[in-house]
Amino acid sequence: MFLKENRVYFEDIIKDEKFIIENSNIEVNIEYSNRRSFGMMCLYGKLLITIPLSVLKIGYIGRSFYLQLCNSLEKIYMKIQPLNIEPITLNYVYLFGEKLQVTNFKGYINEPKYFYVKRISLTSILKQYDKVVKDKLQSIMNENCNLLKLANDFKLTISFYKTRYGSINTKERRIHLDRRIFAFNYDVFNSVILHELCHCYYQNHSRQFHNLLNSVSSKNKFYTYIMAKGDFQFYDK
Ligand SMILES: [Zn+2]
Repeated sequence: MFLKENRVYFEDIIKDEKFIIENSNIEVNIEYSNRRSFGMMCLYGKLLITIPLSVLKIGYIGRSFYLQLCNSLEKIYMKIQPLNIEPITLNYVYLFGEKLQVTNFKGYINEPKYFYVKRISLTSILKQYDKVVKDKLQSIMNENCNLLKLANDFKLTISFYKTRYGSINTKERRIHLDRRIFAFNYDVFNSVILHELCHCYYQNHSRQFHNLLNSVSSKNKFYTYIMAKGDFQFYDK
């Protein structure tokens, strides 16, 4: 019970802070974790703040954390200016960098700019979305594995993940990808896949890891910024 009250307290602070950064409409998601430190990042145009559970037990947050929080929120906002657009809705979806109108009208099957589903429900939209994505991924995975001299025996899981774009289990050879990365165009989402594949050589984010990643995906840093912003229609000319 004590914990719950504190949670409200934290969320109130963040709501206030949201107001302080010029009435912005940034969506702030708060998560509690077993980690020791506070985390702050921007994913798809939304701010994600992770608060250590241990801090909740203390019952209050210190002045220094409060200042740190204000500071970081402002920095993220200034640097990124998130667009805060939903990638998948009942009306439209962003897919491979294009905005498509969701329709159940059969005449629009295979029409560009339309996304055909039998029934307009989130379940069928997601099912169809994953199907299109998985079809496309076959050739992409072949190309990437060739490029990195890896056997293409990876299993792919596509889902919504709260805190990351992708992850890899190199022992099981399974790659988890956040569905929303496919809202972006090829160059952008492929940088996530290449990132995960490079972990087959280096588990951590060491200098060697980044050297390898940069050799196959030179603009990956910039693309991460585009993803943080949630600029689904970004096109690299
Ligand atoms: Zn990584």
